[in-house]
Amino acid sequence: MYLERIVEARDHAGAAIDSMRRSVIPPTPQNFAIWYEYHAGQNAGLNRMIDVIISNDRPFDEQVMQDLYADFFTSSKEELALHHVSVRVGNTLDEVMGLIATATSDAARYGATLQDASSAIVSPINPLAALIERLLADARDMARRSERLGNRLQQSVQTIKTLETTLADARRDATIDGLTEVSNRRAFDTILRETAGDAMNSGDDLSLLMIDIDHFKRLNDTWGHQTGDDVLRLVAATLRQCIRGQDTAARYGGEEFALILPATPLEGAVEVGNHIRLACAKLQFVPLGTDQPVDMPTLSIGAACYDPGEALANWIRRADSALYRAKHGGRNCVMSD
Ligand code: GH3
Ligand code: MG
Ligand code: MG
Repeated sequence: MYLERIVEARDHAGAAIDSMRRSVIPPTPQNFAIWYEYHAGQNAGLNRMIDVIISNDRPFDEQVMQDLYADFFTSSKEELALHHVSVRVGNTLDEVMGLIATATSDAARYGATLQDASSAIVSPINPLAALIERLLADARDMARRSERLGNRLQQSVQTIKTLETTLADARRDATIDGLTEVSNRRAFDTILRETAGDAMNSGDDLSLLMIDIDHFKRLNDTWGHQTGDDVLRLVAATLRQCIRGQDTAARYGGEEFALILPATPLEGAVEVGNHIRLACAKLQFVPLGTDQPVDMPTLSIGAACYDPGEALANWIRRADSALYRAKHGGRNCVMSD
């Protein structure tokens, strides 16, 4: 088994080196990791992405390799925490399975004793008293073991319950932005990668909106950071209300949000952007302790449709430059790539 794995690993490593040589890719550890994984075939998303790049005759230049590494090989502290909790759940479950196996074999052994006893009863040379003594001793033993087992199972169930809560919290913390309760940047990266993979499979359009609140610094300076935070929450809630179930709203950073819109062409995405812009313009917010409504800030939005096989970072860059044009075109508008 171990030898088989060595041979397999050697094959993948050899194929990875050959691929890098053929495509003139520097054999750095990062590039090796990408091509090893590709030839091992364990990561369908990575293979799909590389196959599309190959079929589109795109070069594996430094940027493409960096993007592939960032998209498929970096993991966050939160993901590691999730991994640790999962390992602990796995260990506890193994322990429970072990306990159940012990219980089953105890019961089987007791069954065998009963079986012995039933054949012994018919034998006239076995005094009945000795037989009953043996049965009683075994039954007492069995009861003691069952009680111990019950206690240990109870403890394990408790541990699993605690771990389940920890896992649910960790999962939530790992994907949701604490302030605005939309997806966080890490979840955005994951969902973007997954939806791009789905779009490559289905051939459906997939659009991205980058949304930046206009003159947000001024709002903070005028009303204070607390009100700034409230406005961020309100905008995020409006984004959530304006999208469909398959769409994703995420906080990209600071006062910038992103929307991932599957099965949506560029024109559809521009329409969604304008709808959101108008919905936010209608918001009214009076901070606690004042009677004066905040002048709600406007939004500048950039839209770009995914070009199958392009690096995700490039797609984001295109949406970002559309956003940049929206800012420089006077703000409060949607620009498309
Ligand atoms: P522009 O129209 O060009 O986007 O101007 P802007 O003021 O929105 O952009 P700028 O990048 O100059 O400032 C962004 C501000 O957003 C500054 C920063 O303090 C504020 N900000 C970022 N994150 C938060 C947050 O979580 N809460 C609050 N209250 N403010 C934030
Ligand atoms: Mg900004
Ligand atoms: Mg801004």
